[in-house]
Amino acid sequence: MGIFDPDWHEVSALVTNIQRFSVNDGPGIRTTVFLKGCNLRCCWCHNPECIDMHPQIQFDDVVCQKCDLCSASCPNGAMRSCGNIDQTKCVLCGCCVKICPYDALSIVGEWKTSSELLETMKKDRPYYQESGGGVTISGGEPLLQLDFLHNFLPKLKQENFHVALDTAGCVPFSSLEYAACFADLFLFDVKAFSSEIHKKYTGADNAVILENLRRLSSLGTEIWVRIPIIAGINDTGDEIAAIARFLSEIPGIAQVELLPFHDYGVKKYQSIGKPYLLRGDPHPSEDFMLTAKRICSSFCLPLR
Ligand code: SF4
Ligand code: SF4
Repeated sequence: MGIFDPDWHEVSALVTNIQRFSVNDGPGIRTTVFLKGCNLRCCWCHNPECIDMHPQIQFDDVVCQKCDLCSASCPNGAMRSCGNIDQTKCVLCGCCVKICPYDALSIVGEWKTSSELLETMKKDRPYYQESGGGVTISGGEPLLQLDFLHNFLPKLKQENFHVALDTAGCVPFSSLEYAACFADLFLFDVKAFSSEIHKKYTGADNAVILENLRRLSSLGTEIWVRIPIIAGINDTGDEIAAIARFLSEIPGIAQVELLPFHDYGVKKYQSIGKPYLLRGDPHPSEDFMLTAKRICSSFCLPLR
């Protein structure tokens, strides 16, 4: 049995969502698996349910009819009233989820074996073949579930799927190096060049991230860089120019995409009882997006 023999055991991942027919996470039509758990705390995160590395109760206040059956059913006093959960007391017994007549409550974060995930992907194979698509592993930070990836990535390659890995790069380089043995593409986020900005708004220094990107490029796997543009955080000409200059010095970056802030994730904070900390209007102006594109073009970056 070789070290990369994918059949030697079965490992599970904590998954928040499997998005089939995705067209935004790499080439073609893709199946994107979102793994739960992240070591950054980007205050604009649009997938806050992917941050904590444990399952959580999620509450939909739009469909809730305020019947209060959930709080009556909670054996631990964690459900204070209609969907108002004290996460510190919740033991995820699921009683409230079962009793809610309107499906306003759910558990986000489910353990899935690599074989279970693979079954979904096999069903989607015709779409990959038609479109040049494949599988994207996203998060959260997927490289935090390395035991699972050790088991899953070889299986994906055995199936001959195109594999993309979406990372923020704040991991030991050895994790990226391992993933590069199997991934065809990295989607690599660069959120700021200034370490001050990065630390203030993501909770972590970016030195290791930038160095990881530089080292990753030397391994030859295709890299697409994605830069979120958040007003009041990194929407200055100086910051974008610093990122663009850095990227222009790295060979082998096949694509750079500027992603303006969107607010699809804002409601999700409330649904899992997390405070939303971003203040003001984080949408960058159209003028600034054009400026940012011009700056990137002036450094000859391959803009999408
Ligand atoms: S999952 Fe169980 S402990 Fe948690 S809020 Fe619901 S009923 Fe209470
Ligand atoms: S049981 Fe469901 S509908 Fe009733 S209050 Fe709780 S979450 Fe709302």
